[in-house]
Amino acid sequence: MSQDNPCLNCGACCAHFRVSFYFGECQSSGGVVPDDQVVQVSPHRVAMRGTEVRPVRCVGLLGEVGCGVRCTMYEQRSSTCREFEASWVNGQHNPNCDAARAAYGLPPLTPPLQPTLSPGRAA
Ligand code: SF4
Ligand code: SF4
Repeated sequence: MSQDNPCLNCGACCAHFRVSFYFGECQSSGGVVPDDQVVQVSPHRVAMRGTEVRPVRCVGLLGEVGCGVRCTMYEQRSSTCREFEASWVNGQHNPNCDAARAAYGLPPLTPPLQPTLSPGRAA
């Protein structure tokens, strides 16, 4: 697994949750998300195409979940995608990351090991 970015060997969240967001993030409304990559799911919200149905799989996801993946529209992804962080990457646990991984039989990510202080250096 990549030490720097565990998502590159995962992709589970992109194939598990409905990825919805305010329609104002779409290009036709001045945002960055291409309109042809979304479907309307409510009067004010859209979802990434492929995540509004089951089995879920975002149209932007390339590769095999749990092996090697990438987002083909990474620079144009929504705030929902940008704000969804892998557990512990920034020191925070994300139970939804764990849930998505579990749905594909992948173990939860674990926090990095803390360096142990030698007795002589303990405060
Ligand atoms: S489920 Fe977690 S580790 Fe997997 S791609 Fe999503 S954020 Fe990354
Ligand atoms: S746009 Fe990219 S990051 Fe967002 S759900 Fe789709 S594949 Fe995942």
